[in-house]
Order: sequence, then structure tokens, then C-alpha cells
Amino acid sequence: MLNPQISIVAPLYNETESFPRLVERLNAVMDTSPRTIEVVLIDDGSRDNTAVLMQQLALTDSRYHCVFLSRNYGHQIALSAGIAAACATEALFIIDGDLQDPPELLNEFFEKYQEGYDVVYAVRKKRKESWFKRMAYASFYRLVRSISYVDMPLDSGDFSLISRRVADVLNQMPEESRFIRGMRSWIGFRQIGIEYERDARLAGESKYSFSMLKGLAYNGIFNFSEFPVKIITRLGMFTIGIAVIYLIQTLIKRFIYHDVPQGFTALLFVIVLFSGVQLIALGLIGEYVLRIFFQSKGRPLYVVRDVIREKQRQPLPGL
Ligand code: UDP
Ligand code: MG
Repeated sequence: MLNPQISIVAPLYNETESFPRLVERLNAVMDTSPRTIEVVLIDDGSRDNTAVLMQQLALTDSRYHCVFLSRNYGHQIALSAGIAAACATEALFIIDGDLQDPPELLNEFFEKYQEGYDVVYAVRKKRKESWFKRMAYASFYRLVRSISYVDMPLDSGDFSLISRRVADVLNQMPEESRFIRGMRSWIGFRQIGIEYERDARLAGESKYSFSMLKGLAYNGIFNFSEFPVKIITRLGMFTIGIAVIYLIQTLIKRFIYHDVPQGFTALLFVIVLFSGVQLIALGLIGEYVLRIFFQSKGRPLYVVRDVIREKQRQPLPGL
């Protein structure tokens, strides 16, 4: 479809099980909407049948615009590829491909856009996920919000509707370690949240492993905050303060009371403690250095293997 008003963008990684239901629900949304809509699906190097299903769909239904990445790049990069590929003239509706974010909310989100908001983000009222995951997310969002230099809303993920001009800005942001919900806040304009209940995954397991979630959390912290570096300086000043007090106390003991200082254990403890603190400090600085390292290579964010849309409607070789 050429120049649709809205693009629905959904990244997919091994989502064969939920795919038929996803298409059903997307079709229902498009059929009942008065607006012209395309769906941009991104295959993030799936190892199952997802790419084949996507190809079949895109070859028969011109509303689907499918992008196939050369390998698995991770959710944030796949989403960036989708945002870059979307042709919408008015707005992009960003959802997860596992149906945790109901596509039926499109109209409600679009109404806010028509009222003049450039970003309409979803705020999770309730999560149907494990107790541990809910707690981890809740504390993470609160931590990031308290130390970040951009005003990030609590409990909102990537599920959102963004205007064409916000998408254009996102496409111009070359940062390699992407935390899209943070970048979206950084862009500014008028933004508003809409509450919704996040559904449980329709099928399959979460594709985010613990270490991937940790990576995402690190991006949220180190890409949007200078707090970790500042805290090192403050800690340094604090310890120097304590050392000076201790020195004065020792001198008084030595020269006024003629008391020889003792305490080998205390000495060892302090050395070990501050070796640890110094290593942590190095690690924190290392996080920023690593980000400079990756960014300085200037590699593209992802490589597109194939695209199937309107004008290039041919089966892909090798699928
Ligand atoms: N996803 C992706 N690449 C990945 C991991 C996930 O494109 O490497 C997709 C996945 O198919 C889903 C969305 O990103 O549509 C969100 O992932 P997931 O449901 O695993 O995350 P969670 O909802 O558990 O945070
Ligand atoms: Mg999910």
C-alpha cells in the first residue's frame, strides 16, 4: 500500500504460534477502520516458520509490508528497522508481535493524536506476568526515572503511537545501544499516556532472556543518565572526608596521648573494601567507554535481507 495514513509496526522473532491470531486481529482492526493502514512486520532472524508465514501473507495481501533482517538483532533494533521502513503519512502504531499489546486500541490512541499529541504511550495498569518480573520492572522504571535526565513516564514500554515527525527524528538518531522508550521521551513534543491492561503472552515464551533484559536495563540507565559517574565522585569525596577525620584522630592519639595506633584487621578490611569500590567505579566508567567504542565503529544498526511490499511482490529465493 502506498502512502497509508497509519503504519502498525510489529517485530517478530519465532512467533509462529501466535502468528495466525495476530493476522486475524490485525485484519479485523484494518477492516473496521475508516483510515488507510499498512502493517509493517519485521522478521528479526527467526529460526522457526515465521519468515515463511510472513512471505505467504505479504504475497497475497497488499496491506502487509514485510522486512526480513539478515539475523537476530534483538527487539529494539528490529523495532528501529520497522520504524524506518514504515511509510505512514500520519502516525505509527508500535506493538509487540506476541499480542501482549492489543492492536484494537489503535482508534483510541489515534484520537489522542488527532487532539494534537505527537506521542501517545501506553501505561501498564496490570501485568499478567510473574511476581518476580513485575517487581523487577517496577523497580527498574522507578530507578531510571529518578536518575535520568529525560522525563521518562513510569510503567510504559514501547507500545505507543508516534507521529510521523517523531518517527523521522527517531530515524535520524544514530545511537547504537537503543532504548526506544527513552529516546521517545527525549524527543519531546506533546506526549500523553493511556492506561491499559497488558495481556499475557498468547503463545510461547518471552524472547527476552535475563541477560537481554539486563542489557536493556543498562541501556536505560547508562544512555540516559550521568548519575553513575557522579556517584563515584561523591563517594570519593566522602571517603576522603572520612580519611581526614581518621588521620586527625590518629595524630591526636599519637602526640597527645602517646598511644601507638593498632588495628591490622581494620586496615585489611578498609583495603579490601576500597579495592572493591574502585573496581566498581572502573566498571561504571567502562560502561560509558564501551558505548563510545561501539558507537565509534559507525556500523549500520542492522542489515536488511529482503523486503516484500507493493512494488516488489515476488517470492524470495531460498525461503
Ligand atoms: N522480539 C524480537 N527480537 C528478539 C526478541 C523479541 O523481534 O530478539 C520480538 C518478539 O517477537 C515480540 C517482541 O519483540 O514480538 C517482544 O518480545 P517478548 O514478548 O519476548 O518480550 P516481553 O514481552 O517478554 O518483554
Ligand atoms: Mg511479550
